[in-house]
Amino acid sequence: MNDAIIQAGRTVFAYASTEHQRRHGPRGYTNYRAYKPWLRDEFTFRCVYCLSRERWYPNGHEDFSVDHLIPRSAAPDEACDYDNLVYACQSCNRNRQDAELPIDPGRAPLAAHLRVANDGTIQALTREGRWLERTCHLNRPLLVSFRKRVLGLIEFLTARGHSDDESMLHELLGFPDNLPDLGTKRAPAGNARPEGIVHSHLARRQRGELPRMY
Ligand SMILES: [Zn+2]
Repeated sequence: MNDAIIQAGRTVFAYASTEHQRRHGPRGYTNYRAYKPWLRDEFTFRCVYCLSRERWYPNGHEDFSVDHLIPRSAAPDEACDYDNLVYACQSCNRNRQDAELPIDPGRAPLAAHLRVANDGTIQALTREGRWLERTCHLNRPLLVSFRKRVLGLIEFLTARGHSDDESMLHELLGFPDNLPDLGTKRAPAGNARPEGIVHSHLARRQRGELPRMY
């Protein structure tokens, strides 16, 4: 049985069980979209709300957007504050609009609030989780059926137990090919957390430390 496949089945739709500590701290961009490469790496190339990954979209990161925790309309001064930004798919971002969040999805251990069931639905465990599920439409039918297919495929491959199935899943569960090179980026007002660069996904891949799937 392939350990990598079993591990992928456990983690593909698992929300974080621990609080997220920001790895990066670029400062000074005047266009909030300039933070996107940092946010891709920060949030592991997936939507903080629905866990959809860049790899599942034909246009990869172009189908994702920069989402403001405190909406620009409510706090224009924080529109370009890195710690006020998260990474979200365009659907979740659009569904949320400017709604005030009851919880910080870029930091909170969302596993306490949301859980993905084997049938692909997302179950809310708390009031905050229910708010996220309803506001971002996390149980939109196409997304539920996609999650169900992914889980079914992983279950099938796990039961089959072939040692060479990992390459089949790599296309679905691997990191993007175009990992951002944050070490070459110079934020206008510097980087509050420069130590994060060596832990970026590209740096880890270059050292041979990045797993094939996550
Ligand atoms: Zn999403």
